[in-house]
Amino acid sequence: MAEWTAIPKALDPSGVPPHLADYEEACRRFTWAEARRALTGLPGGGVNMAFEAVDRHAVGARAGHVALRFLRRDESVYDLTYAALALATARFANVLTSLGVAPGSVVFVLADRMPELYVAALGTLKHGSVFSPLFSAFGPEPIRARVALGEGRVLVTTPVLYKAKVQSIRAELPSLEQVLLVGDPADIAALDAGERMHDLRALLAQASPEFTVAQTTADTLALLHFTSGTTGRPKGAMHVHGAVVAHQATGRFALDLHDDDVFWCTADPGWVTGTSYGILAPLACGVTSIVDEGDFDAERWYRVLEAQRVTVWYTAPTAIRMLIRAGAALAKSHNLRALRFMASVGEPLNADAVVWGVDALGQPIHDNWWQTETGGIMIANYRAMTVRPGSMGKPLPGIEAALVHRTERGGITLVQTPDEQGELALRAGWPSMFRGYLHEEARYATCFVDGWYLTGDLARRDADGYYWFVGRSDDVIKSSGHLIGPFEVESVLLSHPAVAEAAVIGVPDPVAGELVKAFVVLKPGEMASDAMANTLRGYARTRLGAAVAPKTIAFVEAVPKTRSGKILRRLLKARELGLPEGDLSTLEGPSQ
Ligand code: ATP
Ligand code: MG
Repeated sequence: MAEWTAIPKALDPSGVPPHLADYEEACRRFTWAEARRALTGLPGGGVNMAFEAVDRHAVGARAGHVALRFLRRDESVYDLTYAALALATARFANVLTSLGVAPGSVVFVLADRMPELYVAALGTLKHGSVFSPLFSAFGPEPIRARVALGEGRVLVTTPVLYKAKVQSIRAELPSLEQVLLVGDPADIAALDAGERMHDLRALLAQASPEFTVAQTTADTLALLHFTSGTTGRPKGAMHVHGAVVAHQATGRFALDLHDDDVFWCTADPGWVTGTSYGILAPLACGVTSIVDEGDFDAERWYRVLEAQRVTVWYTAPTAIRMLIRAGAALAKSHNLRALRFMASVGEPLNADAVVWGVDALGQPIHDNWWQTETGGIMIANYRAMTVRPGSMGKPLPGIEAALVHRTERGGITLVQTPDEQGELALRAGWPSMFRGYLHEEARYATCFVDGWYLTGDLARRDADGYYWFVGRSDDVIKSSGHLIGPFEVESVLLSHPAVAEAAVIGVPDPVAGELVKAFVVLKPGEMASDAMANTLRGYARTRLGAAVAPKTIAFVEAVPKTRSGKILRRLLKARELGLPEGDLSTLEGPSQ
């Protein structure tokens, strides 16, 4: 059982009333039908994500409100109001129509975080087509594999990215009908583009800003998101327009978005968080969303928070650990008083990082849990809640969570006992639930048993209903009859002042089954040595016991991660065992 000290609510001085003030009452009363009524709906019925995110605000009092604020690399600012975004996205939808693109086509976008990426995403949804984002840092092969699997008809990209990553695989993508390029007209002309390649900005300028939003329904396909590939080959998760109901509801419940908020989600739209919470949820809630075109840099991030007076901030554990490494003094040298809520997702957030938030930023960091498949936040430390550092919080209203054991005959049994570990399951039927893995029907079907969606993650729930992440079922270590979640071991190592990052795997052992091995990145100024390894082993043993503490510690410069910041334990394990490394398309680093 993890140790924790609850963080008192007195730390929240903002005075803004939380949306989810009475959790039990909200859970009792909440229905998804009611949540859907909080949106506008298309004239004549139906639901369209882009209409809810943009058009309904563009006709009302929020027309002149800034929807997206882009910070260029030089930190100059470019704003798009809801009204301007409505016009630009209508133009994009008209461009697709004028090129003969049929609604329902998959439109891939391979671009840095530039305005056209956002216009293309929302314009595609307006058109009734399917948006699928790609990380701009992907190399040619991950791009080829995804566009081929998704049978992409349209690709939006830049001349530079096209030349570096698409030209060489273009002939292998027969489905790809149109390429829309964003950039300098001279660069586009120099590509000798041919008739199916176009200057997107020129087409947008010519297109009409009036477009009747496609009559999509809650069940019309809207998004194709590839998973992070942490446990294997990335899967193509399919999402529908009705998911926007969950985006809006979770934007309020889990991120506490209010009308006047300035919200910053640091995730790249190449990853599901960058679309669900970098584009759709904040716009569906009508707030101003910051898009930083620059890369991570601790000083720059604090400058952005201060200069833009960010009120709600959504980021990830890897970034938080890098900020911790940069030191609390740097955080304190900025005026971050506007910041009233911080949240994190993507990987387990160790208790020390949550507490660091209190010290350095005056607020705990609120962990929340979800997956590409769930389309939106499912379990969260919501704002009015007493945070137990290290816990991912409680299921949001409308979400029924359980812990289950799989039986040998393919069924499940529900875990009833507090603190007993089980696989995290969610009662199927929330609006942003994925509707399939592209071309993998059988795999999709095996995710569901007796009306529950089985997530593949292990967790436990304490007597008060808080959920605690244990590990992915693939990563759990079986050692001398114990089931060990890597997160618990990593958290303890991370609480040692010399440790910056830690990744834990099991290595086969004839006696114990598996032994715990830790890969550790030390903080700047700390020396890797046998003495340090002994110190860390001893430190872990006193906190975890001999059975769970790592037997071996290897010091490394960095641990391998996905582009969305997740530790690739399967790669550490494959390397350790000399096995094939598997699909590395999402591995962070220079593009292949
Ligand atoms: P793949 O499914 O291809 O192996 P992935 O599961 O990493 O990749 P994502 O859907 O991007 O792809 O990530 C979701 C997973 O990330 C969750 O299932 C969980 O394992 C992990 N995760 C997300 N948020 C949290 C959190 N707050 N605490 C612990 N783990 C988290
Ligand atoms: Mg997954």
